[in-house]
Amino acid sequence: MQIQNLFQFFLIKRLEHKKLEYLNKLQEKKMKRIINYAYNNTPYYHKKFKEHKIRPQDIKTINDLKKLPLLTKDDVLANYNDFLRRDIPTFETHQTSGTSGKPLCMQYEQQHVFYNQSLFLRQLFMIGYKPWWKILYFDKIEKQSSHAAMLNFFKLFRKEILDISLKTGDIQAKILKFQPTLLITSPSMIINFYPFCEELKTKIFVLGGEVITKKMMKIFKQKFSLDDIFEWYSCWEFGYMGAECKEHSGMHLNLDANIFEFLENNEDVSPGELGDITITNLTNFKMPLLRYKIGDLGVPLDLECSCGRSLPLVKNIKGRNDDLIVLPSGKLVLPEEIINLFLNVYEFDRIKQLRIIQQKKSKIIIEFVGDQEEKELIFPKLLKALLNENVEISMKKVDIIPTKKIKFISSEVNNPFKKLSNK
Ligand SMILES: [Zn+2]
Repeated sequence: MQIQNLFQFFLIKRLEHKKLEYLNKLQEKKMKRIINYAYNNTPYYHKKFKEHKIRPQDIKTINDLKKLPLLTKDDVLANYNDFLRRDIPTFETHQTSGTSGKPLCMQYEQQHVFYNQSLFLRQLFMIGYKPWWKILYFDKIEKQSSHAAMLNFFKLFRKEILDISLKTGDIQAKILKFQPTLLITSPSMIINFYPFCEELKTKIFVLGGEVITKKMMKIFKQKFSLDDIFEWYSCWEFGYMGAECKEHSGMHLNLDANIFEFLENNEDVSPGELGDITITNLTNFKMPLLRYKIGDLGVPLDLECSCGRSLPLVKNIKGRNDDLIVLPSGKLVLPEEIINLFLNVYEFDRIKQLRIIQQKKSKIIIEFVGDQEEKELIFPKLLKALLNENVEISMKKVDIIPTKKIKFISSEVNNPFKKLSNK
């Protein structure tokens, strides 16, 4: 099996330099396969196709996909068992985050997991990975995940996955001892572990999992004296979806594993315009999800990257539906505005950890860990000025913010994007 994996990786690696027409043909071939399987083996799709009077053979091209209805997380939750193929064993499962609603338990087949491991590796090589690099995966993961298994498989790879049940001090000691070359993490983790991140000799960061802005990346690059910083796009439903190369022209989308649509009112947006990201995954036959509205927005680009890879580009992934602050007037504040504000004034010597929770439109609580008194801090005052509406902002000093709960901004208020993804 291991040799097969290696062989598959080299095949997948070569795809990034194939012409776009070749990749689209490959997508269509894989699409027809998964649609056939979905129709013949999952009760949900069998019923849906009948309802819409569509046969699998009616969907020949990527454009024909539009004949299928859109799918939301709520649809999957409401018909969960009807999405699963009984004849394929489950190789791995994962709960999607439940912060914006109910969690969804994804089930994956073995081939999908292996394919994702190869995508992970391909993305690593895209940023100039060398086998002697030490990689630290620093996030809220609770168990050894598949990419870790892939790294183990190659043996050459030196990696560390953190056990988040450890005490903060132990985690930090472990990381400092390991001194990774590459840190894969999320902005919230950096913000919450900032003082000790400064002690790392790491020169390259990969960020993902949350809204990431150019400004934020610039600030991190400066503060940590990094050589480079990259953005990756992934989700638990489908795995690795896109990654920046060294040219930073946008993120290259993994077209060989997914069909991406950027939609507004069920129509494709033009390149350069913001669209609702809809994904048809081509690799997980255990739980096929076709035209799934992931709840993110992004801007597809019609640019050729100077790195020579033909995988198309996307930029400005945003609006992950649980991160927006909704003001009493209905105005939305993007997390990036708050994160940028925070990074500019960050009272690093005063605040050790911090998270912002919007409980109601007019009520925000900022939990923080630090030696200072609430009234001595500048950040809440600036936040109040930024929001500029009648919102009560209160500070709450806590002993610790558990690693599992680290998320810079979480809002319990509904917002139009949540509705959008539930349509
Ligand atoms: Zn590129």
